[in-house]
Amino acid sequence: MTTPLIDLQGVSKTYDNGTLALSDVSTIITQGSFLSLLGPSGCGKSTLLRIIAGLISPTTGTIKWPATNDARPDDIGFVFQEATLMPWASVLENVYLPLKLRGKSLKDVKPQLMDALSRVGLADFASAFPRELSGGMKMRVSIARALVTRPPVLLMDEPFAALDEFTREKLDDDLLALWESENWTVIFVTHSVYESVYLSERVLVMDARPGRILHDLTIDASHPRDRKFRTTPDYIRQYSEISDALRHDVEA
Ligand code: ADP
Ligand code: MG
Repeated sequence: MTTPLIDLQGVSKTYDNGTLALSDVSTIITQGSFLSLLGPSGCGKSTLLRIIAGLISPTTGTIKWPATNDARPDDIGFVFQEATLMPWASVLENVYLPLKLRGKSLKDVKPQLMDALSRVGLADFASAFPRELSGGMKMRVSIARALVTRPPVLLMDEPFAALDEFTREKLDDDLLALWESENWTVIFVTHSVYESVYLSERVLVMDARPGRILHDLTIDASHPRDRKFRTTPDYIRQYSEISDALRHDVEA
């Protein structure tokens, strides 16, 4: 099934200071897919994600949501590189925030909060404070906060880039398991070739000055995937292809 969810046509973005951050991006993102935006710093990945989230508007071009009568879903989950937790609030209260903003009482939604925490493996840490958590655990809280409203679309902007390699690999695996169980559409920004090939069904390789899509690649391997995938000839071939494409683009 390939239902178009997001339809971007000729999208460009020039910021007020004159920076052309994105130029003529056209692509269709299908419902339920796992897509990565991969490219060097400054190529417009965050800009594209913010346009999809509706936080900023394109300067030219259109973004449409054909699967939902062109309405952007009210609820889009957004996870940033920094966990951005409230240091004075417990893990539970941090995850409660999006529901609190919708006027829900803590008592009513507590089972929902505990469910979100158990989905990221933190059920035992509901009353802990952010300072008591490791970097990986903080990121899990941030993911729980994004999924507590059960958004159909999850946008992730280099969510694991500040974590050590082992924690990152674990969170990559947990994210894949969540994606498979939640029917999410995930758009995942990374500058790691490894991560993009390991996780995604499709990778858009981007280039800077101006930001644009250079390659649109389907990762040829079925899900579920696990770390064994990383030693298969299929993985190594696709990793090398993307690496070579990027290196060529960065040198050019
Ligand atoms: P990436 O996420 O790939 O690193 P960004 O989307 O953050 O790239 O930025 C793309 C380009 O737009 C960069 O040159 C960046 O400096 C510029 N840029 C990003 N945000 C703004 C802004 N609010 N105002 C002006 N320029 C910006
Ligand atoms: Mg960015």
